[in-house]
Amino acid sequence: MSEFSALRAQLQGELVLPGDADYDGARETFNAMHDLKPGAVALVAGPEDVVRSILFARDHDLPLAVRGGGHSLPGFSSVDGGLQIDLRRLCRVEVDAAGRSARVGGGATWGQFNEAAHAHGLATPGGVISTTGVGGLTLGGGIGYLSRQFGLACDNVVAAELVTADGTILRCDETEHADVHWALKGGGGNFGVVTEFEFRLHPVGEILGGPTFFKPSPGVLEGFRDALATLPSEFGALLGLTRTPALPFVGEEHHGQPTMALITSWTGDDDGISDVLELIGGWGEIIGQHVGPMPYTVINTLFDDLLPFGLRNYWKSLVSRSMDDQAIDVHCRQVDSVPTVESGVFFHPINGACHDRGPTDTAFPHRDATAVVGIYGTWHEAADDDANRQWVRACYDDLRSHYGDGEYVNFAPDDDPDAPISIYGENYERLSRIKREYDPQNLFRRNQNVRCPPS
Ligand SMILES: Cc1cc2nc3c(=O)[nH]c(=O)nc-3n(C[C@H](O)[C@H](O)[C@H](O)COP(=O)(O)OP(=O)(O)OC[C@H]3O[C@@H](n4cnc5c(N)ncnc54)[C@H](O)[C@@H]3O)c2cc1C
Repeated sequence: MSEFSALRAQLQGELVLPGDADYDGARETFNAMHDLKPGAVALVAGPEDVVRSILFARDHDLPLAVRGGGHSLPGFSSVDGGLQIDLRRLCRVEVDAAGRSARVGGGATWGQFNEAAHAHGLATPGGVISTTGVGGLTLGGGIGYLSRQFGLACDNVVAAELVTADGTILRCDETEHADVHWALKGGGGNFGVVTEFEFRLHPVGEILGGPTFFKPSPGVLEGFRDALATLPSEFGALLGLTRTPALPFVGEEHHGQPTMALITSWTGDDDGISDVLELIGGWGEIIGQHVGPMPYTVINTLFDDLLPFGLRNYWKSLVSRSMDDQAIDVHCRQVDSVPTVESGVFFHPINGACHDRGPTDTAFPHRDATAVVGIYGTWHEAADDDANRQWVRACYDDLRSHYGDGEYVNFAPDDDPDAPISIYGENYERLSRIKREYDPQNLFRRNQNVRCPPS
């Protein structure tokens, strides 16, 4: 298309067009349910390229998508016929070890960030898989193994370089453009393109952790619930009601069978992990366990092979403040119905340090919750789309009366354009006012979209 040729001439980076040899690689995103064909992919080389791309999309009235790590479940990081601003080349990570901070390109993955920080014995909370993008995960909140100890990923953002809808490059932090800095901590990609984050880092080297697989039983859920209430914040965890993958330390007779799987990440001392393992041992019948010392970078890769790009996904979530016996009954029935080994109902703890901030201190509102409950449908064949989507929705409906309102923006599908109103609750109005100031034309709308207030 000739209009895109004009952009190609302006960019320092590369513009990939349909028909180019690397077009399919450039447009690929995580969720194969959204096989989108952008008019062009701008592999930007720096903030100035982002400015040029934004202004080009605005002036040509083109739909715009922003791609960080490409893991958006609703496929927001690409767009049919429009311009995909692709940040993956902005992946430089500069660590200031003495200052315990890092400057991280807006297109870096957590694997790239974790490796660079780990070289200095440092880390910050990120997701539980290494291929997700720092950008999308952080802008929606960001929950990981270190969150009970150091908060959400967004809580550790000190500053950001942001390119706004009118092509301005600005730095925002607690004092400069503090309103949009607040909005970036959970408000998603609504306010512009972050070309660089500055993160606070914490001393984290080796952790003691790994998976424990249980035969499903109410005791596992009760034990997990009580552990989140009583164990110190050095206990990071993820509990999944899923099917057992074919792992060498679990007997073959269990492979593919329903299981409750706990991933433990302990940053405290050796005595502490002994106590944790003793406690866990009382939850139920263990069918396989592989817990030991490992670099923090490794625990964030445990799911990488199970969840590659190219599978089909439909995810939803709820927010849990407490888990009563009725909810435990529902979960025990659900575990038998999990359709594939990649699917499940997963608990991501967000108590501990995530509660150091209140619900309106950042755009991420769920500061009174214990865990985000993600319902993950992941499968291989298009013929199974309906059945798997239905499984996710049925699990969600069964849990709704137990957990009430609230969902995590980063796991939300795109079924409901009004979802952001309930996702953000009392923060929505403030987000909406900030949207009017920074993106009044709603150029950044491939996201859980915050709309400007009616004028
Ligand atoms: C396999 C898998 C594992 C996950 N694990 C976790 C987890 O452990 N914890 C957790 O909290 N979440 C997790 N998530 C959810 C994840 O946080 C979201 O999918 C998130 O959107 C991924 O970010 P991304 O940069 O990879 O995605 P993208 O698809 O690249 O980005 C998603 C959206 O974010 C915005 N965006 C991305 N980067 C930028 C930027 N630099 N500037 C402005 N806007 C930007 C854009 O609106 C974009 O459409 C997981 C998702 C998957 C698929």
